[in-house]
Amino acid sequence: MTEIYQNYIGGNWIDSASGETFANTNPADTDDVVGHFQASTAEDARAAIDAAEAARAEWRETSAPKRGEILARAARLIEVDAARIAEELTREEGKTLVEAKGETARAVQVFDYFAGEGRRLSGETTPSEFGRTLLYTVREPLGTVGIITPWNFPIAIPAWKLAPALISGNTVVMKPASGAPKTSLNIVRILAEAGLPAGVLNFVTGSGSVVGSEISGNSVVKGVSFTGSDTVGCGIYGQVTGRGGKAQCEMGGKNPVIVLEDADIDKAVNQSIMGAMWSTGQKCTATSRAIVHKDVVEEFTTKAVAAAAAIRIGNGLDENTQVGPSIDEAQLNTVLTYIEAGKNEGARLLTGGNRLFEPPYDRGWFVEPTVFGDVDPGMVVAREEIFGPVLVIIPVNDFEEAMSVANDTRFGLAASICTRDISRAMEFVDRIEAGLVHVNSPTVGAEVQVPFGGMKDSSTGTREQGRVAVDFYTQIKTVYLEY
Ligand code: NAP
Ligand code: MG
Repeated sequence: MTEIYQNYIGGNWIDSASGETFANTNPADTDDVVGHFQASTAEDARAAIDAAEAARAEWRETSAPKRGEILARAARLIEVDAARIAEELTREEGKTLVEAKGETARAVQVFDYFAGEGRRLSGETTPSEFGRTLLYTVREPLGTVGIITPWNFPIAIPAWKLAPALISGNTVVMKPASGAPKTSLNIVRILAEAGLPAGVLNFVTGSGSVVGSEISGNSVVKGVSFTGSDTVGCGIYGQVTGRGGKAQCEMGGKNPVIVLEDADIDKAVNQSIMGAMWSTGQKCTATSRAIVHKDVVEEFTTKAVAAAAAIRIGNGLDENTQVGPSIDEAQLNTVLTYIEAGKNEGARLLTGGNRLFEPPYDRGWFVEPTVFGDVDPGMVVAREEIFGPVLVIIPVNDFEEAMSVANDTRFGLAASICTRDISRAMEFVDRIEAGLVHVNSPTVGAEVQVPFGGMKDSSTGTREQGRVAVDFYTQIKTVYLEY
């Protein structure tokens, strides 16, 4: 029998008032049900918010180094349980076990990093205009905050929101994505086991429009950190800031790699294909557009097509698999619709493009890694986020044209350039409109100790990760002390 998982509110595992649950299935094998989760109501979300409010005073008074000790313990508990956590992640999300293990290790780094932040959460001391006056600032928590997460990184993203929220002294209501709630639940269980007091972290599963809306609409919730689609993110941003709260939204991307004529082409191909296809292209930082100089576009294209066609697709639990399924039928259909649009607009389909139906793919949401050549920057496949294993190759005449194509997008999350010319690399760094900039490295990947986030329509609010992450979760108090 498949297990039924509960909400975690005020330190208790409890059922939703709705009495209903939803199934979480394996996207590689829809006969495999990972578990049933609470289809919660707005009333459940309000109970979680009340529990967070009730725990607020005590948690705020717990010293930051003490809070850090709990996060460090959580990091150790994740390490001990990593194999099982990663396997459940693969089962519910579909990415390969190697990727799931890497993501789990990332969560350990995040908790360790922010555990240390408990001893560094500093303000500043400045000279005062007046004598015998101590003038300084301290960081205080916002209060109760909401965390709304997507399914594509079900452990890393909850970790990198929870850790800075908790170390800063906030209490939390978290709503995970309905596509992958089990991994988030594992983190909640571990934080409770690590000694987080009852009510400090509350966990409510259920639909975004019910549970998520209650969190973003409730004026008791002082800040909401969201990662997901830009339609939902912009709605949440408007709702939260409209009622005077703080909002931080990380949204989509249409990330370019520029390949210049002097690039190491094998390396450029390797990182472009990896960036585009790994995790089934379901990364906000996925490489989506290869903007390639005309002198090398033929070589790049031939090698990229060969690399994409050689990818082993399958169930992520199989160690031979390099690329797993799309998360669900709707996402798969979105990808297939974009592939049709590309064909209709005259982009040249060079490899892939099909759903896989035959066994062993018949019970999952599998699509072939797909490469389009001769893509015009105005085509839909060159402009919209696909969130699938699709790379478009756009030929350009020179560096200037490459720069203007790269920046001709409403998104600005990640971007990369492949070149051996340091001057052009630096010019790219200066002029590219993106929050994450790579030179000779893939658009994907992010280290925990530096800020993560985008420009333009990709992000709103202050950055996540790195030391600046606490800026979102704290407010500053300025103290004038005359003695
Ligand atoms: P999504 O539909 O926007 O969902 C994200 C989260 O918001 C889920 O927990 C969802 O709940 C919830 N939600 C949905 N409607 C809501 C509403 N009206 N009010 C409050 N919450 C609501 O995105 P997704 O399909 O899970 O993720 C894919 C997208 O995320 C892609 O576009 C990708 O680019 C983006 N993404 C961005 C980043 C980044 O850092 N920039 C990282 C990862 C993903 P349900 O699951 O119950 O619908
Ligand atoms: Mg699932």
